[in-house]
Amino acid sequence: MKFSSNSIAEVISIGDELTSGQRLDTNTQWLSQKLNDLGINVGYHTTVADDLDRQTRALQIAANRAELVLITGGLGPTQDDLTREAIANAAGVALVTDQQALAHIESIFARNGRPMSLANKKQALYPVGGSTIHNEEGTAPGVKFCFGQNDESGHQCLLFAAPGVPYEMKKMWTEQIEPEIGGLLDGQSVIRHRVLRCFGIGESSAESKMPHLIARDRSPRVGITASYATISFRITATAETEFDCEKQIEETAGFIRETLGEIVFGDGDVNLQTVTANLLASAGQSVAFVDFQFGGAAALLLRSAGVDKVCPSSIAMDQVQPHQWLDPESDSDSSQHDPDVTLVRAADRIRCMMGTTIGIAIGNLHTGDLDQQHTEYRAAVCFSENQSSVEKFSRAGHSEMRDTRCAKQVVDFLRRCLLNR
Ligand code: ATP
Ligand code: MG
Repeated sequence: MKFSSNSIAEVISIGDELTSGQRLDTNTQWLSQKLNDLGINVGYHTTVADDLDRQTRALQIAANRAELVLITGGLGPTQDDLTREAIANAAGVALVTDQQALAHIESIFARNGRPMSLANKKQALYPVGGSTIHNEEGTAPGVKFCFGQNDESGHQCLLFAAPGVPYEMKKMWTEQIEPEIGGLLDGQSVIRHRVLRCFGIGESSAESKMPHLIARDRSPRVGITASYATISFRITATAETEFDCEKQIEETAGFIRETLGEIVFGDGDVNLQTVTANLLASAGQSVAFVDFQFGGAAALLLRSAGVDKVCPSSIAMDQVQPHQWLDPESDSDSSQHDPDVTLVRAADRIRCMMGTTIGIAIGNLHTGDLDQQHTEYRAAVCFSENQSSVEKFSRAGHSEMRDTRCAKQVVDFLRRCLLNR
């Protein structure tokens, strides 16, 4: 049996603690990354409870639709450890004892001076036609089995079952399973990923600008995900060499950058605040905020990037109008004041007060339209008395992420101002 770039793998994790949501399935994430590193695409993740019928069914489905199956969990000695039985059931074969594995389990108990219970004997079982995988660390050997060896359809599926305990699973993967799969790779297949991060566009409008990008039959594949108003394009290339993968990724990333322009703020494991803070630091700039709207959320977001001294100070004053802060003598009616002019003056004032190179003022100023007062706000970025920009933003969205989104909008505005200086 050989694995090619068309082969699909399925990762199955076993355990009530996983299906009940009490524990997060980290084995599947880890193994999927390892399979991708080998150039094998993972088509399915399945999580099954400690139940023999369900596991048998899941295995039959997996053996039919995948060429490679990795299972973790359920190899222990207790009644709820059913992976071996499920493999034997799914294949319609009996379980037999591996005498060498049994001797190894007995030696572990002897070494620890503990009597071995009868239940541990079942850990040395394996389905006829398969084999056990040595587990130096623990009492649970792994299992290897090939489905469909005599199948007329010609479809075969190679299965490896490893213990659920993450460190035992990882050791068995690295020392035994990976080298074996590595020897079965037909031709060189390489998989590479890249993520482009964007702010300031919705998922659907990003897709409508590039309708063919997300097509499932496209190569490289692109997926869009959204998290707290940040959109990520995930590019996955499968090719014969790393060079070919990078070439494909580069072309697609270039197309996205060209289409979306400065909406793309970075690639890889970066966030908006870190990109912006690094831009400030490399340009030798620093910024102070006066926030009449969000309690200083944008300043806090920028500071969370941990880049020293780019945002030394900020003031938050939710109860005060910008024009009153500028001139305490003025009356409270802000409709008399041009909102843009007032915010630019506030931004310039905070810049001078705090001794930074940039000042930012954020406020929700009366524009005459009462409805819009609650859904709109403005931010002014001021570099000097004569150099400033103001932008109007919507503060729509679910309450849970509205303020996070607004803080990101202001930080992103600053990023774009820095790029266009
Ligand atoms: P052993 O052979 O050592 O008895 P096992 O194969 O029977 O292990 P389980 O009893 O199912 O494995 O799980 C052992 C431990 O590993 C538990 O703490 C369990 O929560 C953890 N575990 C099992 N599966 C996963 C998984 N997919 N991701 C993270 N942790 C897991
Ligand atoms: Mg278990």
